[in-house]
Amino acid sequence: MLAQIGDEAKLLAGGQSLIPLMKLRFANPRHLVDLNFIPGISYIKEENGALRFGALTRHAEIENSEIAAKLPIIHDCAAGIADVQVRNRGTIGGSIAEADPSGDWATVLMTQVAEVRCLSHNGERAVPLNQFITDAYTTVLADDELISEITVKIPPKGTGAAYLAFKRAAPVYPTASAAVQLTMEGDICKDAAILLGCVGLIPIKAKEAESALRGKQITDKAISSAAESARAAADPQSDMRGSAEYKRTLVGALVKRAIDIAVRRARGEHVEVSHIYA
Ligand SMILES: Cc1cc2nc3c(=O)[nH]c(=O)nc-3n(C[C@H](O)[C@H](O)[C@H](O)COP(=O)(O)OP(=O)(O)OC[C@H]3O[C@@H](n4cnc5c(N)ncnc54)[C@H](O)[C@@H]3O)c2cc1C
Repeated sequence: MLAQIGDEAKLLAGGQSLIPLMKLRFANPRHLVDLNFIPGISYIKEENGALRFGALTRHAEIENSEIAAKLPIIHDCAAGIADVQVRNRGTIGGSIAEADPSGDWATVLMTQVAEVRCLSHNGERAVPLNQFITDAYTTVLADDELISEITVKIPPKGTGAAYLAFKRAAPVYPTASAAVQLTMEGDICKDAAILLGCVGLIPIKAKEAESALRGKQITDKAISSAAESARAAADPQSDMRGSAEYKRTLVGALVKRAIDIAVRRARGEHVEVSHIYA
């Protein structure tokens, strides 16, 4: 249908971004192609060292999934999105396709080795997530393509990760967020991934903050240095959620806390995470 109708069609998944945009008349598609009637595109599986999420899998299904809980950062993300109503309808595929600069999934999944499987009548292709989103609300998807699945490689042993957001209230998007994944070998950080959300047009990979930890002991000094580099890497805009400077400060604090939780999880500690509410 998508191929037949062309660019006058929009896919409808959970409708939690598209329907509000249509109500505000920011989106005015002539046709909606409803994915909700297609069987077999909502699932969570573990296969060949990876977690596979069908595009129509709801945030709430991921929040409550024992398979997804193998990667606690994925649970942190799913459980923290808006409120129950939004989580019951909204989908992982819709979130990635929407590429909202304030969305949670892309920031979290970019700390992982994640791929987006794209399907059209011409066949299928897999795009690394860090090449999928090119700008705010912009992806490499063609008009006749849809996301069929998102895959996340299970990280090596000794890896811990955490996602924290600062929010004014549960049912709103975060003001700022930070996702951190660390692979530890004893006291030494072998690998680090640090992504910042809501402080740029797309999630920002804080490369200098990662370098401040990689190959080093995670001391208070190293954590402070990573947080300072993350602050510098952020590129926020002032808006009704706060000034640019306020968001930079938030990002530094969130990175610090997320590093601490990631290290503890890497050691095998069970740490429950909740976003921070103003
Ligand atoms: C009050 C409220 C608060 C929210 N707070 C948050 C929040 O804190 N954090 C957060 O991350 N999100 C938040 N959201 C957004 C929510 O997570 C949405 O579910 C999500 O952004 C879009 O998913 P959806 O399934 O609803 O997609 P839809 O709204 O149905 O679609 C969104 C876009 O993606 C396209 N699309 C959908 N599925 C596919 C697919 N499989 N392949 C290709 N294109 C597709 C659609 O055509 C459309 O352009 C909030 C939404 C609301 C209403």
